Amino acid sequence: MAASNMEQIVSLCKRRGFIFPGSEIYGGLQGTFDYGPLGVELKNNLKRLWWRHNVYERDDMEGIETALLTNRYVLRYSGHEKGFSDPLIDNRTTKKRYRFDHLLKAQTPEVLTLLAEAFNLPADTDGESLADALLQEPEKAETALKAAKVIDSADGKPGDWTQPRSFNLMFKTQVGPVADEESFAYLRPETAQGMFVNFKNVLDSTNRKLPFGIAQMGKSFRNEITPRNFIFRVRELEQMEIEYFVFPGDDEAVHESWIQDHMDWWVNEVGLSRENLKLFEHIKLSHYSKRTVDILYNFPTLGFDELEGIANRTDWDLGSHSRAQDTLPLSANTAEKAMKNEHSVEKLTYFDDKTKKHIVPFVIEPAAGVDRGVLAALCEAYDEETLENGEVRVVLRLKPALAPIKVAVLPLKKNEPDIVATAKRIKNTLMAEGNMRSVYDDSAGIGKLYRRQDEVGTPFCITVDFDTLGRSNTGDNTNEGTVTVRDRDTMQQERVKIDDLLPYLQARLK
Ligand code: ATP
Repeated sequence: MAASNMEQIVSLCKRRGFIFPGSEIYGGLQGTFDYGPLGVELKNNLKRLWWRHNVYERDDMEGIETALLTNRYVLRYSGHEKGFSDPLIDNRTTKKRYRFDHLLKAQTPEVLTLLAEAFNLPADTDGESLADALLQEPEKAETALKAAKVIDSADGKPGDWTQPRSFNLMFKTQVGPVADEESFAYLRPETAQGMFVNFKNVLDSTNRKLPFGIAQMGKSFRNEITPRNFIFRVRELEQMEIEYFVFPGDDEAVHESWIQDHMDWWVNEVGLSRENLKLFEHIKLSHYSKRTVDILYNFPTLGFDELEGIANRTDWDLGSHSRAQDTLPLSANTAEKAMKNEHSVEKLTYFDDKTKKHIVPFVIEPAAGVDRGVLAALCEAYDEETLENGEVRVVLRLKPALAPIKVAVLPLKKNEPDIVATAKRIKNTLMAEGNMRSVYDDSAGIGKLYRRQDEVGTPFCITVDFDTLGRSNTGDNTNEGTVTVRDRDTMQQERVKIDDLLPYLQARLK
């Protein structure tokens, strides 16, 4: 069973220290969240799995980490200054602000048909395409929205809508002490551009041959109009992105293989069930894209929504960031539509040994959200199980590799020095030799401690008792030197020799 609504996850995250609202004691800062003691472990584990799969386990990848503060020209020639915007609209009555395409998508087909007719479009035009069309003629749009009685979900009534307008999502920040027109930089809205502008640096310093890729994980910033749904849409987000460079012509097959590879990764390594994932083929493509396929996850409350986007960006990015573009063998779309670059000092090309010519590689971009990955893993793992005695146990059935704590070592009695000392020794040995995050906890009775560990997804609890010390009250000391190991999912307990603990756990924590 997975979570049935987002509230269960939000409440668990706050209660057990996974995720808190940002700047909470000052009333919060919308669209920001802080990862707590367990959240940071879960997030780091997810990133570690991703890095291992996409960088270490392949022979064709390099990792980098580029600056968050970005020269404005990077984001001018990438197209973000002009085009990285969302449509925005306000209702004068409720004072509510909406992303215009989201507002339209929430309307009935009848309302959408009325709008489409007003703009001479086919009656079944979808909300996103309608938003694009209306944005071109804002005055006419205002009249049409009124006539079609577009509803505001806040009060369920037709809104008094303003004209829709575009809103650039990039955050600007001042660099250096003097604030003038020239001294600003952007906080990067995606990690991707750092990889494109470093294409030559990576190529020259590693002597890579095509095909090869660059991977990066890190923060990005988007001034989302309506951040919402917990960490699904935030203003400070974290991404895990790959730019995989190929010979033009190989792009389509390589694109397909990344889609399959990453779909399998979410299932096999993150533990998402295949029924909760599906692929979405974009019909309407961004200016740079030849094909884009999203991996969607079935989030509770939200339904299927984007977890990762995998795009074939052709030679758009390397072409756009190059100088002297007219000397390069660019594809027709890039040659025609990319902005003429007047600031770059580099040609981002690759010398093909076979043809002895410089080419501009195509790029396949798998781009996933860390926060959305954490959210999906939590939603999938959440379970409420009714026990035989009628009690409800909340258990996070996380894959062991993702679990924030791998092993909790619990003393049966906290006022028995020998039990406590043995438990602490076991905890330290597992941490040191097994490199597995282990905790010692004696803050409650054993039943309560088990429940707490279940709720945060700890796969194993070890309990040290009188039998361990050879002080069984039955006089039978056959269990001396053993502890009980309790499995989170089955709640079964097994006695294991202390000396065998490390291999026992290592075999089960994979
Ligand atoms: P959306 O359509 O949901 O706004 P997008 O298509 O703009 O997302 P991309 O630019 O493809 O997203 O970014 C790659 C990934 O980064 C997304 O698949 C998503 O997982 C994550 N992401 C993007 N925007 C946000 C956000 N505001 N909050 C959290 N994660 C995000």
